[in-house]
Amino acid sequence: MSQTLTIIDHPLIKHKLSLLRAKATPTAQFRQILREISLLLAYDATKDLELTETVVETPLESGRFPILEGKKLCFVSILRAGEGLLNGMLDLVPSARVGHIGLYRDPKTLDAVEYYFKVPEALEDRLVIVVDPMLATGHSAIAAITRLKRAGARRLKFICVLAAPEGARALAGAHPDVPIFTAALDRELNKKGYILPGLGDAGDRLFGTA
Ligand code: URA
Repeated sequence: MSQTLTIIDHPLIKHKLSLLRAKATPTAQFRQILREISLLLAYDATKDLELTETVVETPLESGRFPILEGKKLCFVSILRAGEGLLNGMLDLVPSARVGHIGLYRDPKTLDAVEYYFKVPEALEDRLVIVVDPMLATGHSAIAAITRLKRAGARRLKFICVLAAPEGARALAGAHPDVPIFTAALDRELNKKGYILPGLGDAGDRLFGTA
C-alpha cells in the first residue's frame, strides 16, 4: 500500500483540514475550504505531468518553452461529494475534461451501486484523476475505477481528502496501478462506514443537507 498511497504533507493543508473537521464550520466555509484543499492536492498530484516544448513569442523575442503534453486530462467526480473537490481542481486546470459517476452506498451492505456514468471520449489517451473527498470502505472508488478501466482508461490517479486504512488497503489491493493521494490517513471506520475521527458526511456538509 505504501507505494500507492501518498499523504500530502503541507502545513496549509493540515490547517485547512482541521477547520474542515470541526463540526462548528458552517456550510459556506466548508465548501470554500474544501475547494482550497483541492487546489493544493491537485497541485501535488499533477507534479509529474509530462511537458513538451513549443515556440512562444514574448514581446521581446521568441523562444522554446514548456507546455503540457498530450490530450487534456480528465477529472472524474464521484457524485455527489466529489463535486466539492472538482471545482477547485478546475480552477487549477480549466481546460480539463470532466466525467461524472453516480454511485450510492447500499446502507445495508455498504456496496457501491451505479446510477449514472458519463465521461469524455478517448479516455485511453488521457490521465484520468478520480476525485472523492472520503475514501472510507473503498467500495465506491474501486467500483468507479473498475468502470473507468472498462471504458478505456489506462492511466488513473485517485485524490481524496481523508482516507481510512481499510479503504486505502482495499483500493490499493484492487487497483495497485492507481496512485492514491490524500491529505490524511485517519484511524478507522465505524460500523456505519464513517471515517473516525473524520469530518462527518462530506456530501451533507458540502450541500447543507444534514
Ligand atoms: N463518506 C462520508 O461522507 N464520510 C465518511 O466518514 C465516510 C464516507
